[in-house]
Parts: sequence; C-alpha cells; structure tokens
Amino acid sequence: MFESLFKLDPGADEASLIATIEELERFKAAAAAMQAQAAAAFEAARNAREQEAGIPARRRGRGVAAEIALARHDSPARGNRHLGFAKALVHEMPHTLAALSSGALSEWRATLIVRESACLDLADRHLLDAELCAEPGRLIGLGDRRVAAEARAIAYRLDPHAVVDRAVRAERERTVTIRPAPDCMTYLTALLPLTQGVSAYAALKRAADTCGDGRGRGQVMADTLVERLTGRAATVATPVSVNLVLSDDTLLAGATAPATVPGYGPIPAAVARQLISTAAADPQSRATLRRLYRHPRSGALVAMESRSRLFPDGLAQFIALRDQTCRTPYCDAPIRHTDHAAPAARGGPTTAGNGNGRCEACNYAKEAPGWTVRTHTDDNGTHTAVLTTPTGGTHTSTAPPITAWQRCDTSTLEVDVGIALARHAA
Ligand SMILES: [Zn+2]
Repeated sequence: MFESLFKLDPGADEASLIATIEELERFKAAAAAMQAQAAAAFEAARNAREQEAGIPARRRGRGVAAEIALARHDSPARGNRHLGFAKALVHEMPHTLAALSSGALSEWRATLIVRESACLDLADRHLLDAELCAEPGRLIGLGDRRVAAEARAIAYRLDPHAVVDRAVRAERERTVTIRPAPDCMTYLTALLPLTQGVSAYAALKRAADTCGDGRGRGQVMADTLVERLTGRAATVATPVSVNLVLSDDTLLAGATAPATVPGYGPIPAAVARQLISTAAADPQSRATLRRLYRHPRSGALVAMESRSRLFPDGLAQFIALRDQTCRTPYCDAPIRHTDHAAPAARGGPTTAGNGNGRCEACNYAKEAPGWTVRTHTDDNGTHTAVLTTPTGGTHTSTAPPITAWQRCDTSTLEVDVGIALARHAA
C-alpha cells in the first residue's frame, strides 16, 4: 500500500537525496511509535476479549507476543521484547513515545531508554521519562552510548538500590552461547559479571604478552582460550562430536557440493573432507556413518514412519536434521521439541510429515487457543508447515533444502552420508 509513496525521483539532486534520507529516518521512527501503540492496543483488546470469555487471568494473553513477532517478521524472542517495549512506552513513558513519534529518537535509542529504566518503579520511571525526553532538543546529537549512559545516570540518581538489585539479578543471566560466523568460523560468547569478564580477558591478554612465537596477539588469545577450556592444545581435535551431512560424491569422489553441519549451516566440501580425514587419521577419534535418503528431484530428506505416540529417537533426529532450526517463521532457535502439527490427542500421527522441530517457547505459544499448524509434503518431497494465528494470519515455513542434496538429477533415491565425528578424551 505504500509503494507509490516510496518512489525515488530519478532526477533528484544531491541536496534533495540527503533530505529524503533524513525524512525517511523520521518516518521510520514515527512508524515504530505507531507500531508500539498498535502492539499495546492489540494486547489490551485480546485481554479484554479473553476476560469476557471467562478465561482466567493467568492464562490470558498467551501467544500475543508470538503473534506480534510473526506480524513483524521477527523471532518470538524479539516479539516478547517488542511487546514489553510497546507497553512500557505507551503506558509508562509518554515523553519517550512522543520523541519517537517526532523522530527525535530512533526505535533503538527509545529501546535503550526503556531498558535502562526497567529497574525503576512507576513513579521514578515517569521522572526519568520527563527528565530525558520532555524537551526533545536535549536528545539532539546524542548517539546510542550517550543516550543509554544518560538514562542510566538518571536511574542511578533516582533509585540507587534498584540499580544494585538489578545488577544482582543480571548475574543470574550469565551464560555462554555460540553462533556461526562467516568463513567456517564461530563466535563463542560469554556473558559474565563485570569482574569475571574483565579478569578472564586480562588472563588471555597476559598469555599473549608473554608469548613470542610469531602468532598474532588475537591468535594467541584464541588458542589460549581453547587450551584452558578443553585442557588440550588448540591444534588437537577436542573430545566432542561434530555431525556432518554430505553427499557420497562429496565424501568419495571429490565433488564440490557443500556439506552441512546441523546447527551451523553449510561448510565447503574440502573443509568437510579435511575434518573427516583428520578424524580418521587420529587413533582416538571415531567416525560413525549413517545413511540418509533424499528425494531425487528436490533433494528434500524423505519421510520415515512410526506408530508410537512419542517421537522415537531416530525419527526425532531425522526431523531435527530436516528442519535444522525451529520451524516457526523467523525463529532461528535450536530445536528442543519434536512437535505434532495435528495434536496426537486429536489423532495426529507420529510421522515425519506431521512432525515439526520447535524451540521451547514456540512449542508453548502454539498450544494457546486459536493456533493451528497444517503440514504437507509435495511431490518433490518438500515439507511445508502452515501456521495460522488466532487473528487469522497465515505464515508458511518450508524445511530447508540441505545444500549437499541439491545437485541430483537421477530418478532414483540417492544416499547421503551423516557422519558423527567424535574424539574421546585420552
Ligand atoms: Zn521457535
């Protein structure tokens, strides 16, 4: 509906192009403000309707954040944050909302202010909101860090105890996560209490300062981190298993079709062969092979059947390999549950076709009233799930084709190889 509004004049000069860029930035902020108002109103409307229908308070509003996430083409985890942000802005921080509407704040900077004020009670939050945003001129020229720092400074002054309590609570959130990086690398991230994080980093830096063997500082720090965590030199494979999916051609005939590491994504064929040959040459490693069957045309992983009501291990593993991540659109979370699209209680079969890999949050959201999932597998073996929300929105997700399986042109079922590389501690 906006397409005609957003047509760039091909003859525009430099000054009007810059003016357009600035105007569009204000437009995006105003749109974010309206999106927040719509989200808060949507939640209120859903709550009122559920209250009228006699649904108890603790069960109201389930799935609201997930529906907002789908509408925003974002993950359910972010849907939660969007809803929390919207409610804080609309119900508690009118000046921040107004600054967003006028384009004095971007959506991200408004989010930072909401976040930094989250530990305050309502009265203090009102004070912070007014002090920082009532006069939009105050926000001119402030970058992300300055905005967050000013909000934090006001919060410290208004309620030092709340900020300290929040720091104690934040410590409980300490965790370690991993995500893919480009070029066959990964980011291993630790969220730590300040002093632990600083001292861990200082220990790695010290190792780099005292080492002069030609490696760069970053390289020494990374190698030292791996050595101290796994107890082995960084150049030696570590005693954990890595799953690889690749075609027999890639494994045996030097083909270039990439392999897939479930949970990471595609890796080049040569890197996969290198991993396998390193493991094979190492007496402490063990490579186990399992055959997987793909559809000859689409390369989709083909179905398996089971009569039991719980998904047996093999079938759950199959669905996890096929789906790779949670099947809710835009959710990239790891699979925790194998979910029946048509519920088992209503006769939904325990099959690969009726099975969906889901993360914990999505599995829970989908149980709320008004959510349904229908699945089908087409002639090419491609598995599709259609999610319908209580407001009638439909969202489609297709199981990803595994890259190793995309290059087949014969009419018979082809064999792919799943290899688990495991290295045992000495
Ligand atoms: Zn999910």
